[in-house]
Amino acid sequence: MDKQELKKEVDSRRTFAIISHPDAGKTTITEQLLLFGGAIRQAGTVKGKKTGNFAKSDWMEIEKQRGISVTSSVMQFDYDGKRVNILDTPGHEDFSEDTYRTLMAVDSAVMVIDSAKGIEAQTKKLFKVVKQRGIPIFTFINKMDRDGREPLDLLEELEDLLDIESYPMNWPIGMGRGLEGIYDIHNERVELAHPENYDGKRFLTLDKSGNIADEHPLKQNSIYQQAVEDVELLQEAGDDFDLEKVEEGNQTPVFFGSALTNFGVQTFLEAFLEYAPAPQAHKTQDDKKVDPYEEEFSGFVFKIQANMNPAHRDRIAFLRICSGTFTRGMEVTLERTAKKMKLSNVTQFMADARQNIQEAVAGDIIGIYDTGNYQVGDTLYEGKLGIAYEELPSFTPELFMQVNAKNVMKQKSFYKGIQQLVQEGAIQLYQTYLTDDYIIGAVGQLQFEVFQYRMKNEYNSEVVMKPLGHKIARWIDPKDLDKNMHSSRNILAKDRFGQPLFLFENEFAMRWFADKYPNVELKSLL
Ligand code: GDP
Repeated sequence: MDKQELKKEVDSRRTFAIISHPDAGKTTITEQLLLFGGAIRQAGTVKGKKTGNFAKSDWMEIEKQRGISVTSSVMQFDYDGKRVNILDTPGHEDFSEDTYRTLMAVDSAVMVIDSAKGIEAQTKKLFKVVKQRGIPIFTFINKMDRDGREPLDLLEELEDLLDIESYPMNWPIGMGRGLEGIYDIHNERVELAHPENYDGKRFLTLDKSGNIADEHPLKQNSIYQQAVEDVELLQEAGDDFDLEKVEEGNQTPVFFGSALTNFGVQTFLEAFLEYAPAPQAHKTQDDKKVDPYEEEFSGFVFKIQANMNPAHRDRIAFLRICSGTFTRGMEVTLERTAKKMKLSNVTQFMADARQNIQEAVAGDIIGIYDTGNYQVGDTLYEGKLGIAYEELPSFTPELFMQVNAKNVMKQKSFYKGIQQLVQEGAIQLYQTYLTDDYIIGAVGQLQFEVFQYRMKNEYNSEVVMKPLGHKIARWIDPKDLDKNMHSSRNILAKDRFGQPLFLFENEFAMRWFADKYPNVELKSLL
């Protein structure tokens, strides 16, 4: 591929993640997007859980039991000259640090909100990580075919809770059974939800005053008149659309629709593809940036999925390509070890199959079969590029377990396993400050199960885990440390770099501590 071709290919990429609270409709909207892209032929194929379509997958046992599918971790399709990569961010119990890390590998995010529920806990958590990265965030307010909350209310909540400006690209005309359509501010038209109730025309043009140009029965409908009034109000009092702010993640374009009835999804997709960025330059550890059009291949590993099948110890390392072209069989350098690696067994993930690929470019995600060479955060590069990409952040764990080896005679394999899994980024490790007991921390329950399973299968170490439950982890400056600060409502611990932290029982315990020691700064990770 020559430089010009590479640029054209890279510019066509749109790599993003959908973030939402469970049940807001992420799967449903993903399926609609894949249907538009022709990547699947029927709805219901994304989650194995629902259809059993992935039953033949020989992937990890836990994956099968829980219906998580590696094939749905990355989905790719083409639409309107763009190549779209959607990265999945699992919800529910499958939530893990990988979910957060996936957000390090995208160029933008789409936030799906249930119109009856507004901003929910998990959306807020994921939003925080996206916001911190400063990448564009698009909002889709879903389930407009049901009675939900007032749209103005929802925008206000979004701005207040997430501290971001919002700009409605369109505005609902009614909701629930009374949903007539959307007033499409961006495209200056009205899109009807039920054109069959009128003359079959789906799109109605607007005149200069912002009203439906031709005669139409909807013009007499008070629901429509209300929407026009709302839009006028928003245009007077609200913020203007500002692409620069969108690109910096300081303004979110908001769309309304219904994924289930496939209303407003295509309109959303088209505007999203217009404004979402192509792959951007990526930062290195020495604060330089690598251009995606740089001809030499480079990328970083953001997630490792272990194979839980004892007969296949292999894993898949997910790599985000940051520059150049991947070609099958190419030789690259693994920066951490300076070892040369040949990339021959590599897959790209399609919606309904894992395929062996020949070529991919910056913006794409590839899955490298791994026999234990890679760690989360690793950089791979071609030729003399000689770079290390920015380290991935660590995330404040929320769940904790005390762990021990079941068999005291097998301490050695226990320590080895823990050290390796911690290094790989599968789990976080702490020790109590005074007694050196092992505590592991995670952001999701699944991480513990995977940890226990892999300790047994890969390191032949059975572990006993005692749940400590939810805790709030806060780091303090070692010079502030006084062992008397330790109480029954917190656990004093140290992380694997020896830094002191407290695991507080709850918000109350943390506030009590903060009041008692006002000069001690409590710090969290991301
Ligand atoms: P996820 O957990 O975010 O992936 O949510 P799903 O896509 O699995 O949707 C959760 C439930 O909401 C399912 O029963 C969907 O059929 C339903 N749902 C999704 N989108 C809509 C919508 O636009 N309208 C209505 N009424 N239901 C929806």
